[in-house]
Amino acid sequence: MANVLIIGAGGVGSVVAHKCALNASVFTRITLASRTLAKCDKIAAEVAQMHGVEIETAQVDADVVADMVALIGRVKPFLVINVALPYQDLPIMDACLATKTHYMDTANYEPKDVAKFEYSWQWAYKQRFEEAGIMALLGCGFDPGATQVFTAYAAKHQFDEMHYLDIIDCNAGNHGKAFATNFNPEINIREITQPGRYWENGEWIEIPAMSIHKAIEYPGIGPKESYVLYHEELESLVKNFPTLKRARFWMTFGQAYLTHLEVLQNVGMTRIDPVKFNGMDIIPLEFLKAVLPAPDSLGENYTGQTSIGCQIRGIKDGEEKTYFIWNNCDHAETYKEVRGQAVSYTTGVPAMIGAMLLVNGTWLKPGVWNCEELDPDPFIEQMNKQGLPVQHAVNVTLA
Ligand code: NDP
Repeated sequence: MANVLIIGAGGVGSVVAHKCALNASVFTRITLASRTLAKCDKIAAEVAQMHGVEIETAQVDADVVADMVALIGRVKPFLVINVALPYQDLPIMDACLATKTHYMDTANYEPKDVAKFEYSWQWAYKQRFEEAGIMALLGCGFDPGATQVFTAYAAKHQFDEMHYLDIIDCNAGNHGKAFATNFNPEINIREITQPGRYWENGEWIEIPAMSIHKAIEYPGIGPKESYVLYHEELESLVKNFPTLKRARFWMTFGQAYLTHLEVLQNVGMTRIDPVKFNGMDIIPLEFLKAVLPAPDSLGENYTGQTSIGCQIRGIKDGEEKTYFIWNNCDHAETYKEVRGQAVSYTTGVPAMIGAMLLVNGTWLKPGVWNCEELDPDPFIEQMNKQGLPVQHAVNVTLA
């Protein structure tokens, strides 16, 4: 049915390639391109061996719009699935505009030199995408992504008015390494070392990083210390659901992880400004990334589960109501299926589902859209079919 071009051959790119191959009747031609061709070839060999599907590979520097335009010109995809890094979002969107090709990603654009998380840069493309008759689907991983679909599902089926939203994200897995991040270390550390922020009564409340925390009970896992962070989907959710009086995002961190992070910060290894080393400019966080385990290397022997969901309080038929919608995902199971750990899997599977809903026309409409602006039902239906079963509970005690 469709020809897709995946950009990025890391932990998430690998899962997207595997899952597209597992849905080969929808994705009839798959090309995986990234900066390092060898990584694409390794994934292609694994996909062929495990699922009997041939995918094509290519080398590209997605920061260079002309190179992306040339690659799109050769492959002629219906859709570009961008699972490289947030820095590449705008160049790839420019290449999609130049070639009138649909676009999607899993993380909002970030400039390299300042850790700033907001949709303004990408929302600014809305009119140009509309005029070109193409779609950009933003942030279609798990969080952002499925969490917005969950919130839209709650708004559609469970509430007349939603008032309080808590997105809760737990990784209770153990990869056996002293310190590693579950997705790109540079992007991950930039995100969690920022001041926290949440929405309350019509304004953003900024707090020192990791300063609000408490134990939250995760289904099938138990209580885990969870920390309020700023997460990009909050920006679009409070815009699209203006009845929300408060919206927060919580993520679990183990004490060993936080101690490592504190030391790395204290010694300057998380800085993103250049420092001189042997006459060269190096960015300490980029160097740190080079010595940490890659997210796609964590899968083997990873045990335990992730649990990510939305807890919502609001009004239905004049009565106060609570609703919890979530997914638990098991690292060892995902490794068996696609050779990836659950954090890559919970990102890559929603990305494949978003791609499927564009390709089959269900979600397709010109412009730039966040996931909660589209019908949640077909997405949830696919989550249940594609390895991310969705669970629900009504009138339970929330975090
Ligand atoms: P990885 O670091 O494992 O992979 C990133 C890939 O992008 C690598 O293959 C890298 O190539 C490639 N890449 C980087 N720069 C370029 C470039 N200029 N041109 C072409 N390719 C490039 O990261 P992850 O797979 O863990 O994460 C991928 C994306 O998913 C990130 O944007 C991350 O923020 C997002 N994410 C979203 C989540 C969600 O739930 N929404 C959760 C987790 C991640 P090379 O190997 O050569 O460096």
